Amino acid sequence: MSTGPHVTRFAPSPTGALHLGNARTALFNDLAARSSGGRMILRIEDTDAARSDDARLARLLSDLRWLGLEWTEGPDVGGPHAPYRQSERASIHASAVARLAELGLAYPCFCSPDELRIARRAQLAAGRPPRYAGTCAALPTATAAARIAAGASAAVRFRVPAGRIVEFEDVVHGAQRFATDDIGDFVIQRADGSAAFFLGNAVDDAGMGVTLVLRGDDHLANTPRQLLLLEALGLPAPRYGHLPLVLAPGGAPLSKRDGAASLHDLREQGYLPGALQNYLVRLGHACSHDEWLEPDSMPRHFDLSRSSRSAAHFDEAQLRHWQRVAVVRASDGELLEWLGNRIDRVGDRDRRLAFVAAVRGNLVFPPDVEPLVAVACESTISIDEDARSAIDTAGPEFYRRAAELWRRHPGDFRAWARVVAADTGRKGAGLYMPLRAALTGMTHGPELAPLVALMGPERALGRLEAAGERAVA
Ligand code: GLU
Repeated sequence: MSTGPHVTRFAPSPTGALHLGNARTALFNDLAARSSGGRMILRIEDTDAARSDDARLARLLSDLRWLGLEWTEGPDVGGPHAPYRQSERASIHASAVARLAELGLAYPCFCSPDELRIARRAQLAAGRPPRYAGTCAALPTATAAARIAAGASAAVRFRVPAGRIVEFEDVVHGAQRFATDDIGDFVIQRADGSAAFFLGNAVDDAGMGVTLVLRGDDHLANTPRQLLLLEALGLPAPRYGHLPLVLAPGGAPLSKRDGAASLHDLREQGYLPGALQNYLVRLGHACSHDEWLEPDSMPRHFDLSRSSRSAAHFDEAQLRHWQRVAVVRASDGELLEWLGNRIDRVGDRDRRLAFVAAVRGNLVFPPDVEPLVAVACESTISIDEDARSAIDTAGPEFYRRAAELWRRHPGDFRAWARVVAADTGRKGAGLYMPLRAALTGMTHGPELAPLVALMGPERALGRLEAAGERAVA
């Protein structure tokens, strides 16, 4: 495929939460634009007024920005093709419909939803693909006008040309062919006067100068209809690429149970945007780099020709892998913000920074920090089962000696650990495991020296003594 520069767009309907598949579509549009030196437009497809509202839109924009996407035109930034909310483009859509009517390529349809349903059922029962039977296609113009004048409401349908083949080269799936005889005349304007998806979407892509449309596979069969509309209107057609669905590991549609919540939920859960980007760029796309990619370098490793034609499967373990890497790589400032007031108790900014440096390798999500805050700040800590048995195994004498030596080397963990080793003959895990169990109440965790520095010599001594008392002799 040509390398652009592509003008792409992401065109969500703000009717529900943005799921992972949508987020991937958005990211791929952003990357296809940036990797070709082009740009992305954000257009909001909110003609379904009943289900679109400002609060949803605000959340959508904030989640997309949070993910790190960049658009040069959109409802919040404006641009030369404004407005960017389809609900505000009604007059543009209406003139396209009027133009098609003038050309004899559109006609009013008075069929009620019930009539359409019955016709559809009959076609399916007869083993035929359901498509509009053409009931209103031949109504004389005067008859239609009279019914409208009498107050009947009508949708408007596009007259699909008979006997043609629509061909296009899908950027992901390759050559596509659709026979127009399989496509029924479709609605381009609803009975309430608003533009139907096929029309608004295609007319706006052309009007906004979009050159590449990347969207979900579920729209593949819509593309021939949209190409016919654009051709009839004499408008330029973009290239289309249809991205395969993102499915649950077993192949079912994705659901929350798979850990694949909406983008917003993942954000609330504490996923970092870089983790999601690194995960999504590899979801159905053979990224040319296996290691962590900074958002700025991602376009260089993105190539649509390496995107898969088959469905991608969500893998929560992979997403968590990237989350771990993202946490390790995040700046101190990012982590302070990420952890928020969970670490207030640790103290002033310097202490919080030291704390974050000590524990970051052990965090995947913000709540993971809570037991570690307790280790650094509480006078008493809870001891988990593994730690309890490590303490019992080491026995009271070990802790009596360790405490005794700590009184001589308070605050210098490394020097102390050396003398405890020399004194008790323990080393490696045999030394550090029981120390860790007593000092943190856990058998796994961050490096001990900085953590002990944060808890301070008094707390450390108290915990060693408590372990000595607790240990079974
Ligand atoms: N609003 C449509 C959707 O969310 C856009 C489809 C497209 O990208 O063309 O599915």
